[in-house]
Amino acid sequence: MTKSRTIDEINKKINAGEANIFTVEEFKKLIKNDNAPSFDEVDVVTCGTCGVMSGTAAILNFVVSDPGVFIRANEVYLNGVPAYAGPCPNEWLGSVDVILHGTTHSIYDESYGGGFLLKEILEGKDIDVRVESAEGKTIENTITIDDIIRGQIIGSRMAFKNYTAFTNPNEESVKSIFSAIPLEENLRGLTFSGCGDWNPLQNDIPHNVIKEGTKVLLNGTIGYILGDGTRSSAEKPNLMLSADLREMDPYYLGGFKTGQGGEVYDTVAIPIPVLNEEIYNNLLIRDEDIDLPVADIKGRHLPLDNTDYDKMWTGHDLRPKYNKEKCSSCNECIVEEICPTNAFKEQKPDFNYCFGCGMCASYCKNDAFDMNTGNVDLTINGKEVNIPIICRQSDRLRANRLSLKLKEMIENKEFEL
Ligand code: SF4
Ligand code: SF4
Repeated sequence: MTKSRTIDEINKKINAGEANIFTVEEFKKLIKNDNAPSFDEVDVVTCGTCGVMSGTAAILNFVVSDPGVFIRANEVYLNGVPAYAGPCPNEWLGSVDVILHGTTHSIYDESYGGGFLLKEILEGKDIDVRVESAEGKTIENTITIDDIIRGQIIGSRMAFKNYTAFTNPNEESVKSIFSAIPLEENLRGLTFSGCGDWNPLQNDIPHNVIKEGTKVLLNGTIGYILGDGTRSSAEKPNLMLSADLREMDPYYLGGFKTGQGGEVYDTVAIPIPVLNEEIYNNLLIRDEDIDLPVADIKGRHLPLDNTDYDKMWTGHDLRPKYNKEKCSSCNECIVEEICPTNAFKEQKPDFNYCFGCGMCASYCKNDAFDMNTGNVDLTINGKEVNIPIICRQSDRLRANRLSLKLKEMIENKEFEL
């Protein structure tokens, strides 16, 4: 007879302090050590993912002036990042409604955009606002998060399950959103995204529990699945998610510089209640079971070879070590230029901003940064090659922290299944 349990039964165990809840990292570690908890020994697994999620947008409402100063906003800029005025006109109210895209770049600086701005809003920093009104007036002001009356994040394409890794077999370097600087020619490096067997959708491929209305953690606060994300398909699913911006933790969301300007990253954690044996069996997937096609950065959809997530993550470091003695204070620091999250400024690291991408260790010629991000053996155009992984656009450390936070919230009855 197949085993099963209900959400009510799991919630009763949680209330009695008797539920067996694992983070995805804890659960996979046990599987890999041939010590997987049985169906009876696991009630919930909290899965997580963190990565560049281009579909991130914020709907904001804030006051710019006293009522009666301007009719309505035609253009709105926050720290130079254009936001789309409306849909509500707020005629003569002195306030604006805007939609801000995480991928929109500042008119002053291509590498600064919506993702960096949203992090600064959450950090409570001053934000310069400029409004060009319908009648031709310019209104300037400074706001902080306290002036944002309502702020909601909607991610149109989040927690993406299936990615492609990229390398550049061409004769010239290629600029793209998949690497902070142009990806060097002749297979000099590989860039990839995806948290592998920690990704929530990877652990519930048939969407038995991950569906419209499911409660999640988005950037540290409770949010909901609105439905499938854009371009979602059975082979490449992703989710549309939403949560209150003002409740989010700035650690989990931010900007990410790419070869095509500023992008945005987010962190998502989703609980998987183990309601039956099918759900349990789906949780047994491992990194080595998950294919990762490797494509030409120019062709994008034409795989050159295949690898898997075990080769991307296992045995590799999640963060670099900075060795100050090896830093020779170069006049132009390549790390400051390429670090996608600006975690190295004025030749000082701030690991709170670090994303673990690995670029610093690949590009600092003096080895001031030490980080093993691994190499991968591939056969490309009939030739065996070994390519270093130079850029990761997903962060397992943040994914793990948020799945741990979710586990603790469930245990503390702050997040009911
Ligand atoms: S490139 Fe390396 S050695 Fe030079 S300043 Fe930057 S971190 Fe230091
Ligand atoms: S790993 Fe290095 S380059 Fe990447 S975010 Fe951290 S400090 Fe910056």
